Amino acid sequence: MYGIIEQDISILPGIGPAIASRLQKSGVQCVGDILLHLPRDYVDDRISIPMCDLQEGVEARTHGYVQQLDASGYGRRKQVVVTVSDDDGASLQLRFFHSPFLLRDARLAPGRRLSIRGKVEWWHGQAQMLHPDWLPEEAFHAGWQPVYAGQAGLNSARMGKLVSAALNLCGAAAQSPFDTLLAPRPTFAQALKRAHQPDIQGLSGSDMQQAFERLKLEELITYLHVMLRMRRQAQIVAEKWHNDALCSAFLDVLPYSLTDAQEKAWQEIRADLARGQRMHRLLQGDVGSGKTWIAALAMLIAVQNDKQAVLMAPTSVLAVQHVQTLNDLLAPLGKRVSLLTGGMKAAERRALLAGLADGSIDMVVGTHALISEDVVYRNLGLAIVDEQHRFGVRQRWELTGRGEAVHLLAMSATPIPRSMALALYGDMDLSLMRGMPPGRKPVETRLVGNRSKLADGMQRMLDEDGRIYWIVPRIDEDEDGASVEQRVDGLKKRFPDAGILGMHGKMKAADKEKSLIAFADGSCRLLVSTTVVEVGVNVLQARLIVIEQADRYGLAQLHQLRGRVGRDEAQGYCVLLPSSEASNHALERLRHMVGCHDGLELAELDLKLRGAGDAVGARQSGDMGFRLLDVSRDGALIRHWHEHLPEMQPTEAMLHFWRPMAESVD
Ligand code: ADP
Ligand code: MG
Repeated sequence: MYGIIEQDISILPGIGPAIASRLQKSGVQCVGDILLHLPRDYVDDRISIPMCDLQEGVEARTHGYVQQLDASGYGRRKQVVVTVSDDDGASLQLRFFHSPFLLRDARLAPGRRLSIRGKVEWWHGQAQMLHPDWLPEEAFHAGWQPVYAGQAGLNSARMGKLVSAALNLCGAAAQSPFDTLLAPRPTFAQALKRAHQPDIQGLSGSDMQQAFERLKLEELITYLHVMLRMRRQAQIVAEKWHNDALCSAFLDVLPYSLTDAQEKAWQEIRADLARGQRMHRLLQGDVGSGKTWIAALAMLIAVQNDKQAVLMAPTSVLAVQHVQTLNDLLAPLGKRVSLLTGGMKAAERRALLAGLADGSIDMVVGTHALISEDVVYRNLGLAIVDEQHRFGVRQRWELTGRGEAVHLLAMSATPIPRSMALALYGDMDLSLMRGMPPGRKPVETRLVGNRSKLADGMQRMLDEDGRIYWIVPRIDEDEDGASVEQRVDGLKKRFPDAGILGMHGKMKAADKEKSLIAFADGSCRLLVSTTVVEVGVNVLQARLIVIEQADRYGLAQLHQLRGRVGRDEAQGYCVLLPSSEASNHALERLRHMVGCHDGLELAELDLKLRGAGDAVGARQSGDMGFRLLDVSRDGALIRHWHEHLPEMQPTEAMLHFWRPMAESVD
């Protein structure tokens, strides 16, 4: 099974080189990635609606025959329009962008009968569907149909085809070493079949649930074994670090004294480092609670004891910012940190790597680039991972593996309840920093339906030289929705003088940096961004953050985003714009953001409120990099197996396939 799972997707029938490369770019690399592209939902597809009864805004299935096929528009707006009619004379237009190949598709020849599923919109009195799922009528069989999230421009139906091909390839011989252990649950292969083909299998809801759980167990048990290994590593003996003169000097140059919460966390870390055993600690502190200074202190103690220290951040934007902040603070001590990111010039990079290898560089901050194969550390003693939930276990593991008995300090503002942290982080020690530095006011939060009033408020804020973040959801280019580009164009019309710029994860690091620098120096006062800004960016003048389609995010993530504003004494504001489809339940959930300003409390609320009603197989973005597990919903499952972990070891292939890796936003 695992042999096939790791095969390249190009071995699947129906995948040509072009599609393979598109899928690969969007993260679908191997057959297993296809198999784990689980349905987002299932629809009862037994009912077909006559074309004349189709209702605006409602997703439905209908049937008809192709009347004509046209291409319209030019360049990026070019589209294929398929006009279908039915025997009663009603007609419907199917519109496809970026799909010129459809013009040559024999199944769309005039007269051919189609079965179509999509959401109906009216456009100048004409019913139309944008990128509907379609297939020849004879290929359609009524029943429960899986609905897949589109990927790399492939719609649900095409994703479904690939999944079927992958299932066929694996066949009945597919096996997982956990199958016997987990009996009488379905085997891994059975569970996959059930999840993808409920109708062929004639399943009930509880069968389905069991199938999903079985798949999750495959991931969970593998993960817990990885954690166990890491814990054993943490028992390694390390040098005792007592000398901390540099830290005292650093505390003297800080503009403020440490808060009580910072002081307590720092003492815990200091004690770890002096104990003679490898540190394995998670520092959890709300957004803006001041974790960076703690990181700096820990790095200095390492340097004082003749070791190198690294700080790994999830984005280059954040790494650059850390380097600036730290170097400002360290300059009076005659110390400095270096920067290592993926986008560096070759010569610069070579010099840096040489410095790390010969030990002349003792502190370095960077992105994943810090764990590139060619990076060698002379005597790494401390690894700090900032916004650690953005990384996978494997990456943390990689980093600590670059030296002997390397201490690990993971930092995160995404709070998870303690019992979960224990299960998920392999019994890391936990330092909690609650509360903010003095003088900070909670960000005033509003749920807004009326956008016109919002614009007036924004103008006032811009007039006072306040900065505004505008957050759009991360969206596939092909999907019809708010992309960064579209939003920048739209907002420029309304706020022509705000120097609006965009920022998203696929931009070059240097361009992201440019946007952020412009935002900080005020030449750009409105920054449209995806959630790349979520992680740790610190622009003090940011006063307002507007979050579009806020109901798509977890409360803890919204809290993180909200933490981007109100970072000094000025009042910060957060406006949540729910999407048009937001359910009452979703709005109710969002309302909690208004009154609650404690990250941990919000995380716990999220656990309680999410769950029922969420689409099957959907995953919260920004989570821990699991393929299937959802930390906010599978808590009970995770805790149970943490306590009753079976001896059965996952194979190397399984470790490799399930390696918990966070999505990189860089
Ligand atoms: P986070 O925990 O989110 O990483 P940061 O380390 O970025 O928070 O700190 C947020 C802001 O608070 C920074 O501008 C920092 O200079 C400031 N800050 C940190 N510690 C203190 C303190 N003890 N007193 C006042 N301001 C502080
Ligand atoms: Mg931070």
